Order: sequence, then C-alpha cells, then structure tokens
Amino acid sequence: VRDPSAGAPLTASAGRAPRVVIVTVGDELLLGKTVDGNSAWLGAALAEMGLPVLKRYTVGDTDDAIQEAVTRALDDADVVLVTGGLGPTRDDRTRDAVAAMFGLPLHVDATLMQAMEARFRARGYTSMPASNVKQAEVPEGARVLANPQGTAPGLAIERGGRWVVLMPGVPREMKAIFTGDLKRLLLDELGPRLRPVFFRTFHTTGIAESDLAERIEAVLPPDLGPVSVAFLPHITGVDVRLTATDARAEEAERWLSDLAGRIAPVVEGYRFDAESGDVVEALASALAGSGRTLAVAESCTGGLVAKRLTDRAGSSAYFKGGVVAYANDAKTALLGVDAGVIAEHGAVSEPVALAMAAGVASVLGADAGIGVTGVAGPDGGTADKPVGTVWYAASVGETSVARKSLFPGDRQQIRERATQAALVLLLRLLEGRA
Ligand code: ATP
Ligand code: MG
Repeated sequence: VRDPSAGAPLTASAGRAPRVVIVTVGDELLLGKTVDGNSAWLGAALAEMGLPVLKRYTVGDTDDAIQEAVTRALDDADVVLVTGGLGPTRDDRTRDAVAAMFGLPLHVDATLMQAMEARFRARGYTSMPASNVKQAEVPEGARVLANPQGTAPGLAIERGGRWVVLMPGVPREMKAIFTGDLKRLLLDELGPRLRPVFFRTFHTTGIAESDLAERIEAVLPPDLGPVSVAFLPHITGVDVRLTATDARAEEAERWLSDLAGRIAPVVEGYRFDAESGDVVEALASALAGSGRTLAVAESCTGGLVAKRLTDRAGSSAYFKGGVVAYANDAKTALLGVDAGVIAEHGAVSEPVALAMAAGVASVLGADAGIGVTGVAGPDGGTADKPVGTVWYAASVGETSVARKSLFPGDRQQIRERATQAALVLLLRLLEGRA
C-alpha cells in the first residue's frame, strides 16, 4: 500500500480555510440498517467551528475499501475524520487498515490497557475479554484521544501536516471524543486558519415554510453582505437560520443584527425561544417561571403530548401527569366529560377538547390543562371531519382556549403536528397571546 502522504506534501495552505473529509465505515451503513448520523452530526459540529466538510465517503468493513477512501480523502483534506470499525471483533478493520497504509506498527498502550481493565472490573467482570486488547493498540506516533464513554479511544495520526483521526462508530462515544480531546486538537493545530461562523436562529412553529419564506424575503434587502438565510423545516416547525461566513466578528454582528431586526416582526406570532429548538423548552420555562403545574388529556395523540413533556429532564417540577382517554366512555369516566356533550357535538369537537383540558386539570389538581381530540386516520374521516381534523384546547385556571386544525400528512405526522400545536397553544395562553 502506498503511503498517500509521502510524495504529496500539503501545498502552502496557510491562507485558506482547512478542509475536512469524513469517512464512515460499516457494512450496516451501506445496507441501510443504520443511518449515517455520525456524518450529519460531525458536519454540523464542524460547521460551528468554521471547518467546512468538503466530502464524505461511506465504505464497508474491508481493509481495501477503508484504505482507498482514506487515500482519496487525503487528496483533498487537511483533516480526515474516520468513524466506525474500532471495536474488538473481526469485522472491525479500521485501526489495522489505516496503520498498515502508513506503515505504522501497532503497540499495546499500557495506560490504555489499565484503564480498560479497570472499566471491565467496575462493571463486575473478573477479567477483560482477550479480544479487547485490540482496542488498546495504538499506531506508532499516534495521539490517543480519550473516550469517556467507552473502551476504544480515538486515534489521531499526523502525516505531513495533515491529520487522519479514527473514532469509534458508536455515536455517543464519537461525540464524546469529538467534544473533548479532538476539538481541542483541531483548535490547537488549525486555530489561526479557522473561519469563524456566526449564526442567528429563529425557531418558528405554526406557519408553512413557503409562506414564511415569502414574508421574510419581502423584508430583506437585496444585499445580505456575508449572511445567507436558510429555511430548515421540521415536522413541528421551521427554523430560520442566518449564517455569516468569512467575515470579521464585528462585521458579522452588524449584518446579523440588522437582518434579524427586520425578520423579528415578521415571525413574531410564530416564534418561540428555546436553545434546543424544542417548544417544550419554552413551555417548561413559562410553567416553571410562573410556578404552575400541568396535566394533559389525550385522545388521538395517544400519549405523545405526555411523551414530549417527559422527554425533557426535570419535567417533574411542573408536569403532573396525563390521561389517554381514547373511547368516549373513557373521556367521561376519567375526565368527567359530559356524555351528553359528546353525543351532541361528537368526540372531535370544541366543547369536548375544552372539557378534556379542564377535566384533567381538575382531576389531577393541576393549574393548567391540555386536551387533544381528533381524527388521525387513515380511517374514520367524514365529510365535515376529514382525516387530519384535530380540536385541541388549553386551559389555565378559568381561562381556556380551543383551536381546530386540519393537519396534512399520514397518521404519524398528524399526531406529531397535533401534539406540537397543543403545546404551542398552551405556551401562547401562558404568554397572554393565545
Ligand atoms: P464497537 O466497539 O461497538 O464495535 P466500532 O467502533 O467498531 O464500535 P462499529 O462497529 O462500526 O463501531 O459501529 C458500532 C455501532 O455504532 C453500530 O452498530 C451502529 O449502531 C453505530 N454506528 C456506527 N457507525 C455509525 C454512523 N456512521 N452513524 C450512526 N451510527 C453509527
Ligand atoms: Mg464494531
């Protein structure tokens, strides 16, 4: 195998931004059994650092494929990040393949061995399986990057000013290595050449991407300077992201503030503030901030509202609980919804959504309530209540509000959209602008 860095010194690259190529290794990625989330995560993390990813390769678990991909990657990149294939089993080839292509012998690192043995002892094993010794092998001259989440460390090999970095495939381990030792290494080695990137994000929900884009474009000037505007739709909303690249901090800040100032009034009715981009974060601060508790009553969402709320750590501070009341008599028995009201208006109706929200708050002794009732499909739609019709309500004390939406999509999408809409309705009610 030729050493790809031997005859091709890195061209004077001090002026341009360093480039990264990602290589993900694993048959399961090619077979579609695992989605290559590592590349996506790394792409975003590197962009934040001002390190653009130029290309990605995904290859199977063979020495040839790994070596070819790393060789090609080195043609373009200052940094090649490889994930996958560092495990203890036969199909984990990355360490051996890359060490061989550079002609680097592997040595067992005594410190790593001790740490790994201690890890196994801590988990109640009397000894470490022999196959794990492989994970303590380090190519000569490579830097070891600590893996606080697992056994195989990251390995950083420098060749002619370029870096090849090997990381485990397990996302949790890869992320821990990246955020710790690898990020530090990249900043140390490439720091002066990084092009810082500046972001400003508006999270919105309840407005369609095309509608939002039209309204925002109408207020933007023709010249955006160093800023680009991206619309990032999710099932629960659209993020508007302003990115300033290749600009000095003050210039970027000036442009971002000006453009954000123009956009803010347009998105006012739809935006929510949450670092995570999850409206539950905003709702959590609104509830916790006012010392209020919440209970939820769900029909067509089957517990998704409660799930979204409890996905967030610390939710016990404000979330009392939820009731999934699917059948009409369950709505009556568990939530006290008047059977006559259901008979008169139907289960998917404004009075039933309102009675569910108020009922669950009262049953569970909460300050606020959410009620959701709708037709998630694919069956059960009628002419006046087609599939996607959802009534959702929020109540805070004596004040309550209900809305009807006709959500597009399949059963799953309708349920997710209804969940989001109900959470947002309560947020708006708490903000005093429902
Ligand atoms: P292990 O010690 O677990 O064998 P490894 O470094 O050898 O770790 P792989 O065997 O390639 O890594 O992958 C381990 C698991 O990590 C895979 O089963 C898969 O679930 C996940 N994984 C691997 N590569 C990726 C990727 N690119 N994106 C998302 N998940 C991945
Ligand atoms: Mg493996």
